Amino acid sequence: MNLPFALPDFAPGSVWLAGAGPGDPGLLSLLALHGLVHADVVVHDALVDARVLDLARPEAERIGVGKRGGQPSPKQGEITARLIALARSGLRVLRLKGGDPFVFGRGAEEAMGLADTGVPFRVVPGVSSGIGGLAYAGIPVTSRGTNSAVCLLTGHDAEGKAPAHDWQALARIPVLVFYMALRNFDEISGRLIAAGRDPGEPAAAVSRATTAQQKVALGTLSEIAAAAADVEAPAILVVGEVARLHQSLDWFLS
Ligand code: SAH
Repeated sequence: MNLPFALPDFAPGSVWLAGAGPGDPGLLSLLALHGLVHADVVVHDALVDARVLDLARPEAERIGVGKRGGQPSPKQGEITARLIALARSGLRVLRLKGGDPFVFGRGAEEAMGLADTGVPFRVVPGVSSGIGGLAYAGIPVTSRGTNSAVCLLTGHDAEGKAPAHDWQALARIPVLVFYMALRNFDEISGRLIAAGRDPGEPAAAVSRATTAQQKVALGTLSEIAAAAADVEAPAILVVGEVARLHQSLDWFLS
């Protein structure tokens, strides 16, 4: 890349733990692109867009470690062990994750594994789907008129159910952004309403955000599960007044 400033060297024997963003390759950071262009091996999740992977050097090995399509996925510990082994063999290892590596991406565990074993690493943040994906649906996560706080949370526990959040506390946070919630919209809206949230408050589900397949389903909190019934994975659920802004700010693909 011909830039008027230097990007850091991708040293052999190191790992770059990078976010690829929610899909649109244009949302890659310069550092993530630099990593792709210099990596010897790219270890990626299923959520990383094919157009992003195609930016890697043709000689670079690509290793998919995602869970998708019913295939058994490698255990987290095995992925971390593999990153360590690849780096120790002297390769430049790009660990590429969808969105941001430290937002529900298990990047923290991988970084801990690298830190514990003394493998040099760099973290390259990415655009998280719960912020950038919503922006592509014309939904700002904060807006001066509506909210001064936002909460990012998971909508799914180890058994696939809505997690044991403190729903009473969550019901008082003006904007809630749920990741991995697709099968639990009904349970989530039910718990929020039971905890005192207004059933008429706006909510939106944004699926396959930032790609040509992006879809937005809008509804009240009590209706959102039905309104989003045919929404496909991956999807973000947002609850709060900002969801209403989609109607005025829907700029993408429109
Ligand atoms: N690290 C990722 C999140 C990984 S968890 C990030 O920062 O975005 C996986 C969840 O992310 C999915 O279940 C979905 O809720 C969300 N997600 C990822 N990509 C998405 C996309 N393009 N559109 C909508 N949701 C997405």
